[in-house]
Amino acid sequence: MSRTLFISDLHLSAERPETTRALRALLDSQGAQCDALYILGDLFEYWLGDDMLDADPHAREVADALAAFARDCAPVTLLPGNRDFLLGERFASEAGVRLVTQEAVRIDVHAQPVLLAHGDALCTDDLAYQQFRRQVRDAEWRAQFLAAPLALRTQQAQEARRQSGEHKYQSAADIMDVNREAVAELLREQNFPPLFIHGHTHRPAHHTHHIEGHICHRWVLAAWDDARAHAIVLEDGEVRSI
Ligand code: MN
Repeated sequence: MSRTLFISDLHLSAERPETTRALRALLDSQGAQCDALYILGDLFEYWLGDDMLDADPHAREVADALAAFARDCAPVTLLPGNRDFLLGERFASEAGVRLVTQEAVRIDVHAQPVLLAHGDALCTDDLAYQQFRRQVRDAEWRAQFLAAPLALRTQQAQEARRQSGEHKYQSAADIMDVNREAVAELLREQNFPPLFIHGHTHRPAHHTHHIEGHICHRWVLAAWDDARAHAIVLEDGEVRSI
């Protein structure tokens, strides 16, 4: 029997302790029966650099909880999202997780190919966001941003949010959905995986794509909030939503 868990868009922050409690509850309840855990981005509401581990007790608490799970229960793989794109190797090492920085990654779960992504790269209709995404994925931009003291980075991030009029927590209405042609293109590039799991859009659903004679099931994870935690479970080849 094999059981793999997928979660995304927890948007953890010290201001929303219920969600962090929900993560701890999931780790506690699933640990014994889980073969692998995949976190598909936006674990944190924001991440300004791995030195948050020193400065922010909440960040440290989450890293320690993941490290304990990875040590005692199952390996954890983390894809950064659009809010925690600065998660780096130090966090990965201290949280005991494997960090995947590609836009999408194809894994095998007992010989079943599964494609994983955060999902933001597929929102190609949002031109302003795609421009931002290119900028923050640039190694030089990252090095320069991370060289500033954490207090200054915090200030800059707050200022950027004020300017964009973005509220603390985005609803699905604020996030564009994926572009279907971009999805088809990715599935083609990845040689038509029968299963594709992503988050980001806050539009939990199961879509079926028929492309050039192939069928791909695309499962979209829900964002977590005070009332809801969501995971997709792949158990002996069957997909379930919990
Ligand atoms: Mn996202």
